[in-house]
Amino acid sequence: MTAVPVALRRRAEIVAADAASGPLVDTHGRVHRDLRVSLTDRCSLRCTYCMPEQGNEWLARTSILTLDEIEEIARVAAAAGVRTFRLTGGEPLLRRDIVDVVARLAAIEGPAGPVEIAMTTNGIRLPEVLDDLVAAGLSRLNISIDTIRRQRFADLTRRDRLPEVLEGIAAAAASPLRPLKLNAVAMRGVNDDELVDLVQFAVDSGAQMRFIEQMPLDAGHTWDRAQMVTREEILAALSERWRLTPVPGRGGAPAEKWLLDDTAHEVGVIASVTAPFCGDCDRLRLTADGQIRNCLFSMAEYDLIPVLRAGASVVSDGAPIDRAGAIDAVLRASVRGKLPGHAINDPAFLQPQRGMNAIGG
Ligand code: SAM
Ligand code: SF4
Repeated sequence: MTAVPVALRRRAEIVAADAASGPLVDTHGRVHRDLRVSLTDRCSLRCTYCMPEQGNEWLARTSILTLDEIEEIARVAAAAGVRTFRLTGGEPLLRRDIVDVVARLAAIEGPAGPVEIAMTTNGIRLPEVLDDLVAAGLSRLNISIDTIRRQRFADLTRRDRLPEVLEGIAAAAASPLRPLKLNAVAMRGVNDDELVDLVQFAVDSGAQMRFIEQMPLDAGHTWDRAQMVTREEILAALSERWRLTPVPGRGGAPAEKWLLDDTAHEVGVIASVTAPFCGDCDRLRLTADGQIRNCLFSMAEYDLIPVLRAGASVVSDGAPIDRAGAIDAVLRASVRGKLPGHAINDPAFLQPQRGMNAIGG
């Protein structure tokens, strides 16, 4: 048993005193049920809107959370009412222990029952691991695909790997995971002539296409509002091909949805910039290096590393450190500090330091 320094002991006492019970409700009444878990900042692609081609500052490998640490945080979050864990990154399938991550998290039960495990991936490597992921308890998949044209894909992602992504989508389509969602960031002069083709591709794959307005989250800080294709423009392009009927009952979901003609097929639009949905946000984020973020755009992070890696299990008077209480207190501090909304449309908006690959999309 190792004695811990006074400062750490005091911190443990403070956070324990700060701990509460019940759901994670912020000062604006929003209840947090969804934790996005970034498993790595590494990626097999280099999408222009997310990562620079070169010169990215990677997180130190030693700072990346271990499987045990992720599970420990997830158990506390689930006890506080988080029901969905969405695994993301970077590219989550680059984690060698990805099947174990899914299995360990899927085994967690919260007050409302078993949690749900979802994943956002670029689809590369999916055929190799999908059966094991499903057996481990994965329940939903979102696969990102911004274009189905090979040269365009190579230009946009800086990697000529469209065939592997298509194989990943085919594997997902053949799996029991439903609904299967495909995500595309709509970009002017890049893929805005392909929106109808992408929706048709999704329909043919038994999937739902969702378009995302490009957000100022690229690691290179090169976002340009004029390059962003807006919700209105996306709907106008799709309306030329289909009659769009709004689907009611969005709840806290980021995507607004429409039915295509009178079919059961849906298309979604995530309009974070022109039609923010912050008022219904139920999401928190855990970065791969152990920081809790209460918003994609927040400047503050709430550090779990001192709690997780204190190097001692008891304080000097022999009392055990209440690690779960300390983790819970960090989650609650983050929720308490959540602002009513992001400020992308404010002239004084400042882009967060981390790129999307290091935040977890
Ligand atoms: N690598 C996986 C993937 O691409 O699906 C998971 C991580 S990626 C950061 C998660 C999602 O964020 C992807 O759908 C991606 O298109 C989206 N994304 C990344 N940068 C974005 C940006 N600047 N604006 C809008 N969406 C972005
Ligand atoms: Fe990688 Fe996903 Fe970012 Fe593309 S969007 S570079 S696939 S993390």
